[in-house]
Amino acid sequence: MAEHESLEFGKADFVLLDNVSMEEFMANLKLRFEKGKIYTYIGEVVVSVNPYRAMNIYGRDTVEQYKGRELYERPPHLFAIADAAYKAMKRRNKDTCIVISGESGAGKTEASKYIMQYIAAITNPNQRAEVERVKNMLLKSNCVLEAFGNAKTNRNDNSSRFGKYMDINFDFKGDPIGGHISNYLLEKVQCCMFCLVHQLLRGAPDSLLRSLHIQKDPTVYNYIKVGGQIKVRPTFLSVADAMKVIGFTGDEIQTAYKILATILHLVITDNNKSLLFVQTPKLVSVIRELLSTKEENVEKALLYRTVATGRDVIEKQHTEQEASYGRDALAKAMYERLFCWIVGRINDIIEVKNYDARIHGKNTVIGVLDIYGFEIFQNNSFEQFCINYCNEKLQQLFIQLVLKQEQEEYQREGIPWKHIDYFNNQIIVDLVEQQHKGIISVLDEACMNVGKVTDEVFLQGLNGKLAKHAHYTSRKLSPTDKSLEFDRDFRIRHYAGDVVYSVVGFIDKNKDTLFQDFKRLLYNSANPVLKGMWPEGKLSITEVTKRPLTAATLFKNSMISLVENLASKEPYYVRCIKPNDVKSPLLFEQERCRHQVEYLGLLENVRVRRAGFAYRQTYPRFLQRYKMISEFTWPNHDLPSDKDAVKRLLQGCGFDHDVAYGKTKVFIRTPRTLFSLEEQRAEMV
Ligand code: ADP
Ligand code: MG
Repeated sequence: MAEHESLEFGKADFVLLDNVSMEEFMANLKLRFEKGKIYTYIGEVVVSVNPYRAMNIYGRDTVEQYKGRELYERPPHLFAIADAAYKAMKRRNKDTCIVISGESGAGKTEASKYIMQYIAAITNPNQRAEVERVKNMLLKSNCVLEAFGNAKTNRNDNSSRFGKYMDINFDFKGDPIGGHISNYLLEKVQCCMFCLVHQLLRGAPDSLLRSLHIQKDPTVYNYIKVGGQIKVRPTFLSVADAMKVIGFTGDEIQTAYKILATILHLVITDNNKSLLFVQTPKLVSVIRELLSTKEENVEKALLYRTVATGRDVIEKQHTEQEASYGRDALAKAMYERLFCWIVGRINDIIEVKNYDARIHGKNTVIGVLDIYGFEIFQNNSFEQFCINYCNEKLQQLFIQLVLKQEQEEYQREGIPWKHIDYFNNQIIVDLVEQQHKGIISVLDEACMNVGKVTDEVFLQGLNGKLAKHAHYTSRKLSPTDKSLEFDRDFRIRHYAGDVVYSVVGFIDKNKDTLFQDFKRLLYNSANPVLKGMWPEGKLSITEVTKRPLTAATLFKNSMISLVENLASKEPYYVRCIKPNDVKSPLLFEQERCRHQVEYLGLLENVRVRRAGFAYRQTYPRFLQRYKMISEFTWPNHDLPSDKDAVKRLLQGCGFDHDVAYGKTKVFIRTPRTLFSLEEQRAEMV
């Protein structure tokens, strides 16, 4: 139980609920939100509800309150988790990680920033200049990634469309000396992309806009029709500034803006008149100028496709549809590549240099993962499939790590291990990622088909291979199932609930859709920065033999290595919840929140936690908190050890049956016992 928090704020730890039911969970969550308590624990997991207002709980004084304290000594807070992760790393030389999940707008990125801010505040007491520089870079790099990876629309203020994992490296003193960032699946949703491009360019000085041939009036650009109204904030200068501070060269920053401008120009025409701009010499020449390529090459890449048929290489003219498809793919691919390139450059710069473990001791790491939670929309597609697969992987990791940790602690303390019954979602992970039989394999196979490559072929493949799988259904396999409306749906029974996916677009989104001609065009740019982003353009058409990995397989590989990486660390969790869709600080939408609690698997979480011992505490600390409720221990005990004193205290209260005594800690099985101890304590103090 967290100290200094009265019970009128509800239970500071969900493990203390009288019954683990959705109703009680929700009532506690709501009560706390309404009382302005946005953080609640489940054991060592922090559940956070987005307050949608400035909270006065992140200042220097709060940092001081949490610094070096044990988790339960203070009210639930992100700082407590950050401190626990930091302490574990520093004291025990362990790599740790903090996994932050939740849906878009739930407060993940803010949480990751507060965690970084806390770590920055408690490290480097001697103000070493080099460490201050590294800290500044780590914080600034966040700002750049957010600018390029976040979309700001009327519906959602600042939504990151990518998952981010950041390692912070520490020296033996516990001061940050560098870092590394990995990013996962930047969603290529067009409207997001164009909003971003627009935002990034909007605040730019007129002279720059002129040199990029961009008109100030945003209605000129096509994306307005795609994305609807957009909010504008002057990001340009702050981003350019942050890039400069991090160490991007002038040429690199210029190139970034040229790429953004090109994307804007590429989509300037109406979709149904996609070839128009090729016939508009001015635009072609603008693009040529921005990309530092040859004019005829731009035109050719947009209108023709080079194909190798046996030994012959021919130029095939695009149809109208192919041309507009190619153009859109180019815009998306350039954006994606730019983003990955920026991440790579940041990594070059913030990577730990000149660290010799023999001299400086072990270099330890805290990882912070800011990643989208389970998503269920009206219409779920490839992106949701990837995101939900990612969450299955993380859930699997959670099960393994949390149970493993519990088991290890019981063993250490000499307490008999009791088997815990829980749903093991490995079967769903396999459904998605298994070689040959899994959904991703079937998808890749469908993409490699020489004949008809359609989403339907993919669905047939799924039905053929997975008909018997307990977690898979489709309309064809189950014609009477009302939840599946169309022939082009399939359903996965996820650990967090059922999700129906439409296969429409899976094939397209999975394949590397960028024609080789574009890659060559960009590789042949006279701008070395741009050229460097497209090394594969070096290959001529006859040399391109290996198929590039598909998007799903790339994502799968990155998830597997992410999970491997996390599994080697001691994990801490933050689960974020978005209370409403209108950014209100007052509104707690019951249904909406309930869904998230479900998708985040929080009840399961409480159950797993409670199935063992809900609460454990070292003997001295336990006494410190509860000694006033027993005559044997108040004000001091005369028993041979603290352990004996705790035994005596609990026997006196009649709780002996609910307790196990480990070597250094007392374990309490049910929260009710703890709750009643708390009540007795409250009566005394
Ligand atoms: P996510 O990364 O989960 O999509 P963000 O962290 O970007 O969500 O949060 C969305 C918005 O919610 C923020 O821009 C901010 O306005 C608000 N917000 C989130 N967390 C907090 C917090 N702890 N205090 C105040 N406002 C918050
Ligand atoms: Mg975010």
